[in-house]
Amino acid sequence: MFTRDTLGWLHPDDGDPRVVVVPAHSSRMGTFFSAPSPRAPVFHTTDTATPAALAAKHWTGDPLPGLAASAHVIVGRDGVIYQSVPLNRIAWHARGKGIVAGREVPSVNSCTIGIELENIGGLRRIPDAQQRPAFYGWPYWRRDASGNPRQSLGPDPLLRLDDARGAQARLVGGQWCDGFTVEQIGAATALLLSLARMFGWRREWCGKGHVDYEPARKSDPWPAFIVNYLPQILDLAFAH
Ligand SMILES: [Zn+2]
Repeated sequence: MFTRDTLGWLHPDDGDPRVVVVPAHSSRMGTFFSAPSPRAPVFHTTDTATPAALAAKHWTGDPLPGLAASAHVIVGRDGVIYQSVPLNRIAWHARGKGIVAGREVPSVNSCTIGIELENIGGLRRIPDAQQRPAFYGWPYWRRDASGNPRQSLGPDPLLRLDDARGAQARLVGGQWCDGFTVEQIGAATALLLSLARMFGWRREWCGKGHVDYEPARKSDPWPAFIVNYLPQILDLAFAH
């Protein structure tokens, strides 16, 4: 079971997944939660091929004005949890109002813990030059000859999944999705179990992802996580 120190950083107990603290730039953190917050998690996928360690490092940088995104943690495919924002402070992961723990609130960020999972998100299955089926992250920007992303959508060789990872892709509700690793789902489960105990969360408060709050703008954490993985995480985290 994880504990948190007075500053809001997680500490693993024996047998828990590893936690690496990589504090986000101060402008990516909001004020302290007001009691009795936080009331629920919001699940996200990173929707890039960037490893969690690098994504967490990216948040240590000063963002452009108005683009100060962050989340409390990123759960890596290796099962390591990277914590960027203390559990007692607001992170910037979901815009606007919504229903949290059964109540309409003006700011979802102001009473939720943002949990990112390292995952490419939506995929497209496109035959390669040899007519073999290949999976590509989607949406993404086609790169020009010098490797710079351009403003048009298209298959990007840098976002092609290798065959082993492609074999883990799941088709749910007509949408191909990147899969998750056993280590990653184990770490997310251990984390949710600990957070639920810390903050008194109920199971029915813990089933929401980013798409539930911003359906016009966001698809994460994508149908495979919502339909296949999240119920499994909730079953294990709330087994007792
Ligand atoms: Zn998101």
